[in-house]
Amino acid sequence: MSEASEHIKTLIIGSGPAGYTAAIYAARADLNPVVYTGLEPGGQLTTTTEVDNFPGYPDGVDGPTMMVELQQQAERFGTDVRIGMATAVDFSNEPGGLHRVTIDDNKEVLAETVIISTGATAKYLGLPSEQRLRGGGVSACAVCDGFFYKGQDVAIVGGGDTAAEEATYLANICRKVTMLVRKDHMRASKAMQHRVTSTPNIDLRYNTEIDEVLGNMVVEGLRMVNNKTGEKEEIAITGLFIAIGHKPNTDIFKGQLDMDDDGYLMTEGKSTKTNIPGVFASGDVQDKEYRQAVTAAGTGCMAALDAERYLATIETPV
Ligand code: NDP
Repeated sequence: MSEASEHIKTLIIGSGPAGYTAAIYAARADLNPVVYTGLEPGGQLTTTTEVDNFPGYPDGVDGPTMMVELQQQAERFGTDVRIGMATAVDFSNEPGGLHRVTIDDNKEVLAETVIISTGATAKYLGLPSEQRLRGGGVSACAVCDGFFYKGQDVAIVGGGDTAAEEATYLANICRKVTMLVRKDHMRASKAMQHRVTSTPNIDLRYNTEIDEVLGNMVVEGLRMVNNKTGEKEEIAITGLFIAIGHKPNTDIFKGQLDMDDDGYLMTEGKSTKTNIPGVFASGDVQDKEYRQAVTAAGTGCMAALDAERYLATIETPV
């Protein structure tokens, strides 16, 4: 390590709505929070255009602007926001209960409390045409972006609970939803499958994958391929939703924090407590079900309150 270890009262890893909300609360409670932003300062919302469903913005707000404002709000109360990535952690029982976190592979900090808000990353198919049109009609969040396609024809890829839920959500807003499932069955629960099959404006296509997303600047259509017969078909759509799962950003916590089978951090009851005292988790990294900016912000607030209560119950290490 190039520098001596710095001692931090509350270290927040991640800078999405959960991390910054935790910072606002922690700073106002004199926990002197330090936020390390990670590789994508502002988190997933910086890849969204308009955010219309965050309370308090009657005219909507674009994602990057909202994240800058959240950062400014956290800084107003003294949060130290730093560009940097947590690259390793050691949550083993340190004398005094300090948690050791390595930043950018070359700096070590010792934290009395750690709030993990590293989020989750939506999976994409990886097709060049899909990547090119991200933000131009290709989205990984129907609840965030579906509204912009009101009355239009859209498509969704995936066969899990998320895809099923989002397909029915979109069907309420859009004229027609073509749903592409790569197998001959869906992975979603029977109840969710039933919702899909009983929604008249969802055109469910099994054994179907995307060959190419059509359009130059914006999505104009889709070329689908039946992976059994090889038959191709083009349809006109204006929006394409990818719902093939998320990957929680928890690799560095493996072996130290309890996770579920999908790698999401497990928290105790209604709290944000992980299995390590003094380490808390908020936002999408511990939530695969709701995944909204407002729910992430809510758990960020909870994590700061949990950290404050934890610090009040232990003898402050020197
Ligand atoms: P899942 O991993 O459950 O499902 C992903 C789906 O995407 C699968 O159908 C999979 O197909 C498909 N898929 C993956 N890669 C590709 C690809 N390259 N091309 C085409 N299709 C692909 O993810 P979800 O986000 O749906 O759900 C995650 C977890 O969250 C689950 O445990 C789910 O139950 C839970 N959840 C619960 C909800 C609720 O209870 N209300 C709501 C939302 C999620 P294949 O089956 O062929 O692998």
